[in-house]
Amino acid sequence: MKTNLSVVDYRKQTFAIPLWDEGGFTKGTLIHIREERGNAAFERGFRQRAITDEDKLFPHFLQCKKPIKIEDLGEIDAWKRYSGVDPASEVRPGSVIFTIGKSPQGVRIPIEIRRGAWKGGALVDQIGDAVRTNRSQVCMVENNALQDIIRQWALEKDRSLPLKGYRTGSQKSDEIEGLPGMDVEMENNGWLFPGGEWDGHSGNCQCSWCVWEREMMDYPQSETSDCVMAMWFAREASRMAVVQVF
Ligand SMILES: [Zn+2]
Repeated sequence: MKTNLSVVDYRKQTFAIPLWDEGGFTKGTLIHIREERGNAAFERGFRQRAITDEDKLFPHFLQCKKPIKIEDLGEIDAWKRYSGVDPASEVRPGSVIFTIGKSPQGVRIPIEIRRGAWKGGALVDQIGDAVRTNRSQVCMVENNALQDIIRQWALEKDRSLPLKGYRTGSQKSDEIEGLPGMDVEMENNGWLFPGGEWDGHSGNCQCSWCVWEREMMDYPQSETSDCVMAMWFAREASRMAVVQVF
């Protein structure tokens, strides 16, 4: 297999050596993959091009990571809580329920990340438990899955969950509203990440904190992004609550 798959100009969708002759992909499939995963992920996955810091969406993540545990933040019990859910789908086996707290000063801190292969009723049960345990005011669920979840929840005869649907779309890439906006908040110390919760874990640890950190550090080239998206939905839940208040 050739390795010198250098790019002539991928923006013009032309390649020095056509990958569709190399790996059994059709040109259309490769273009589709690139559009779906983005240029950076495509370059790494299909051209073995290294990740650069410029490609990272959250370069200020480490700025907000402190060597403290959640239990050290005594006042957090009084903070308002918000949850976000990135449900499993046919192409994504895992679901993530991400809960943040928000201080009176507006600092957001992740306080619980649940990851699991729950689907259907099991996922609904997990969402309900996470919302009740953390006393989340709003739980934002990616909209495409919301209808199913609501239907299942209705069957469970409990309509008290504060579930809201979030419609993903162009906002995701917007400079202010979208994921890049979270990095701006990190740059302004609007987040606090309790690194004490996962300090000393191994490099390939599969606990929720470590998986989430790796996703944040590598996004958008990370292998998965379920935690990032669930965090984003939790952040949107907290923003929505602010809008409602004012
Ligand atoms: Zn870990």
